[in-house]
Amino acid sequence: MSERLEKIKALSLLSGGLDSQLAVCVLREQGIHVEGLTFESPFFSSVNARNAAESLGIPLRVVDFTNEIIELLKNNKHGFGAGMNPCIDCHAVMIKKAGMIMGQMGFHFLSTGEVLNQRPMSQNRQSLNVVMDESGCGEFLVRPLSARLLAETEPEKRGWVDRSRLLAIEGRNRKAQYKLARHFGLTNIPQPAGGCKLTEPNFCKRLMDLARHEGLDLRIIRLLLLGRHFRLGSKIRVVVGRDESENGLLEETAELMGFIIQPEIVPGPSCLVSSEADEKQTLVAAAICARYCDLEGEIPVSVKIVSASGTRTINVLPETRAEIERMRI
Ligand code: SF4
Repeated sequence: MSERLEKIKALSLLSGGLDSQLAVCVLREQGIHVEGLTFESPFFSSVNARNAAESLGIPLRVVDFTNEIIELLKNNKHGFGAGMNPCIDCHAVMIKKAGMIMGQMGFHFLSTGEVLNQRPMSQNRQSLNVVMDESGCGEFLVRPLSARLLAETEPEKRGWVDRSRLLAIEGRNRKAQYKLARHFGLTNIPQPAGGCKLTEPNFCKRLMDLARHEGLDLRIIRLLLLGRHFRLGSKIRVVVGRDESENGLLEETAELMGFIIQPEIVPGPSCLVSSEADEKQTLVAAAICARYCDLEGEIPVSVKIVSASGTRTINVLPETRAEIERMRI
């Protein structure tokens, strides 16, 4: 291992998945100093990356990506995947941000765990090239797992990275990666894919509904991650807590977002209702709350409506199951 290679520093995008961990290992095996970078937002967390960085023993920078991903949901060049996942644009912006950090922090190049043709939309040759071009720092982006199938990059041309020791993995079959994981002794391997809410059909349904009716308001986006949701009007939603912790979170949010309806005597959920709800919609929200109370039979339930203007109690019959399904988001 040469003295010069010891000093080369790579900033590696680390999702925490197997491929991103292997990219780190492949570079480190060449004596390159590798540090991790990950992004977080309401749609994807940094937990796997933090765990992976810890088991790999590398420093990790965690960068908030909330504003960027919300902008990309409103406006993107390359469209969405199967859900509301603007993966090509998302990758390009992430690499662009990583490139800025690379310059500021004195790293020589970037790397990712992308594998050619592993994902039909975002990891085919054309998409990988688009990300290189649009990120503005593509020549300094090495994809160690597929590098020998891709054009030579600046770090390879300059001798910072030995191309002959990079890999030529392609496609969806992960046998090669599992073999490498054994070689490098990796044991902390989360399930492949998953982790981004923008790829989950049920979450996307809620997000599309939000975009159509209320706009992509960050406060409401955070609410989409919990509870059962019902639409009572263009700007009116009811969120029903599913357990104690969700009830607590909804109650904490009430001051900013609306008001709370909860049963007075029987056990049941806290329900957050948009502040603009009129009296008729408030009664429907109360009936939804009653439907999710712990009781037998269609009997009136006493619920209290707690808002900034005070608390009142009403008796209401549970909403019918057919109406519940009609309003469900
Ligand atoms: S899956 Fe989510 S986080 Fe990953 S590139 Fe696509 S939109 Fe971005």
